[in-house]
Formats: sequence, structure tokens, C-alpha cells
Amino acid sequence: MSTTHGQWPRRQWLGVIEEYRDLLDLPEGLQAVTLREGGTPLVHSEWLSGLTGAEVWLKVEANNPTGSFKDRGMTAAISVAKHEGDQAVVCASTGNTSASMAAYAAKAGLKPLVLIPEGKIAAGKMAQAVVHGAQIIMVRGNFDHCLDIARGLARDYPVALVNSVNPVRLQGQKTASFEICDFLGDAPDYHLLPVGNAGNIAAYWMGYQQYSGLGRSSRLPVMRGFQAEGAAPLVTGEPFPDPETKATAIRVGNPASWHLAEMAAKESEGRFAAVSDAQILAAQAELARRDGVFVEPASAAGVAGLLAELAAGESYAGRTVAITVTGHGLKDTATALESFTDIVDTVVDADVEAAAAAAGLA
Ligand SMILES: *Cc1c(COP(=O)(O)O)cnc(C)c1O
Repeated sequence: MSTTHGQWPRRQWLGVIEEYRDLLDLPEGLQAVTLREGGTPLVHSEWLSGLTGAEVWLKVEANNPTGSFKDRGMTAAISVAKHEGDQAVVCASTGNTSASMAAYAAKAGLKPLVLIPEGKIAAGKMAQAVVHGAQIIMVRGNFDHCLDIARGLARDYPVALVNSVNPVRLQGQKTASFEICDFLGDAPDYHLLPVGNAGNIAAYWMGYQQYSGLGRSSRLPVMRGFQAEGAAPLVTGEPFPDPETKATAIRVGNPASWHLAEMAAKESEGRFAAVSDAQILAAQAELARRDGVFVEPASAAGVAGLLAELAAGESYAGRTVAITVTGHGLKDTATALESFTDIVDTVVDADVEAAAAAAGLA
């Protein structure tokens, strides 16, 4: 039975709870509700490494079951909700949290209730929540209003809140830094990522600190968080009452994990900066064309940030840089295609010569 290709069956990745259970602050004996999230690829970017003279790695979180990093935290939050006997779960969402919650709730047999802000939820994300069976409530307000309502519902009614204000979410999400350290053999020098409600940067920092404390890494990265100009409260120091950006996943005016995020930046000697929608969309397009990685607009904010810093004279030469690209491009094809006036370049008859001529080969 043995082959030169090693053991068969190969070991399947177990999901973040089983892979890292010892390191997660979760209830004893917790049964994991999992779709085998995590274990996502760290893809070397020749493009960005060439530009910077650094080794730049993309942590491609699109490869999670519902297409964003939210699944790392959701496996933990839904497992705990089920463990505690909850029947229903609620979240406020700009799209990906609801997509993830709906999938994991379906797996767990819980009722998913989604609060979305009026307007601008990417179609792919809505499709996910609806198809997984979530009840969708649209709120005449923005994400921050939705989160207030979700908190109120969880306080007054028998539903569990699974937004990243639920600390269990961050326990799951911090596994991304474990994976990066496990793969690279140490922490990177810098970690760049998009920031919206700011749970993820807090979770990464928690994970890096934990690994370093355990002696599994020898250093801590500098954390740099990038927000959209129209939703950049961590940059200006003031909440944005009407956050606006095409990068809907980071359209958050008053981040729930504000304090934790500021601590992460401060303790790591990092910082926050804003990038424009134009910079975000350009980074999204270049990442797709140069590295073969198609991410949603918000997910490109870290790459946009790196490019903006390079343009401003910042140097990453000789260092190791990890950039989280947070979610899949297929979630929001409408925004991705906006800059293309023509999707079809040429129409030809069903004929090889005609196709060759149109392609410039003949
Ligand atoms: C949720 C999300 C973010 C922002 O993460 P926070 O933890 O809210 O800062 C960024 N990109 C994508 C694709 C997301 O789904």
C-alpha cells in the first residue's frame, strides 16, 4: 500500500480549534463546530518582494470555507454558542460576518439572525447568508447602528452575539498568526492588514504575543493597520458618523475593538494609516493581475498601504513582511468590474483564423 508519495490517507487539516486547542482560551471539552477553516496558504508575492527588496508573503484568507478570515473566529463563537445551549445567533455585518455565521449556524443547527446596514452589501455575501438560511434584517442606519442593535438583542433576548466584540471570536482569529509563524519558522518583521471593526488586528497581535511568550517565535512583528480614507477613525482619533468607502468590509466608523487595536499598534511600535478608494481598487487590480490573487476591495487595503508607504519613501528592504488579504474577490464582482468598460474585447465568428486575427496572433 505504501507509495513514494507518502502515507495514504493523508492527514486532513482539522480546523483551527483542533489544530491549536491547547493555545485557545475556550471551554474545556468544547466540541468543535468546524468546516475545516484555517490552514490557509501563505503565498509568496514576487511582485511585492521585487518592489520592496523584502520577502513579502500574502496570507490568503479567501481560502477559508466561506471566503474570508471570519471563519476562524466563527468556528469558536458558534461552537461556544452551541455548547452553552443557545438556540439562535445574531450579528451585525457588512457582509462577511453574516456569511460566515450563517454557514456555521447551519452546521450547528442554530438559527442565524443577520442585521445589515442599508445599502451596499456585496451581492456574493448576501447570497451566502440567504442560501445558508439566515433571516436578514436591514436596518435604516450604518454598521455601527446594527452592532448596537445586535448587542441589545443579545442582552435582552435569548440569542448569542457572535460579532468580534465576543472575545471568543478573537481566540479563533489569533490562529492566523500561529500559522504564519509555523510556516515561516518565526514571526515576520512586519505585519500589514486592513482594519475595520479592528478585531482582526487585535487577534493577530494576541497570537503573536502568545507565540513569542511560549518561545515559539523569537520576535514580534511591527503591526501596521490600513483603513479606508472615508472610514479611518483609528487614523484621525475620532469616530466617523457616516463612514463611506467602496471597501464595504471596512466601512466602520466606530470600531468595537478600538482600544485593543490601539494597544496592538502602540505595543508593536506600529501605526494606522489611511488609503483612498482609488489606491485600494488599484491594489486589488494589480494583485489579481500580477500575483494571481483575486481579493475583495477591503482585502487589498494592506497591499495598498504597502504601495503608498513605498511611494512615500518608507523602506522594507531585507525584511520579512506578511500581509493579510482578508477575503475573496468573488464576493463582490460588481465593484471589481466597475473599472472595465468592456468585458468582452472582441466578438468573432466560430473560426480559428478569426480568433487568431482578433488575438493578434495572425
Ligand atoms: C471583517 C473584514 C475586515 C475587517 O476586519 P476587522 O476585524 O473588522 O478589522 C477586512 N476585510 C474583510 C474581507 C473582512 O471581512
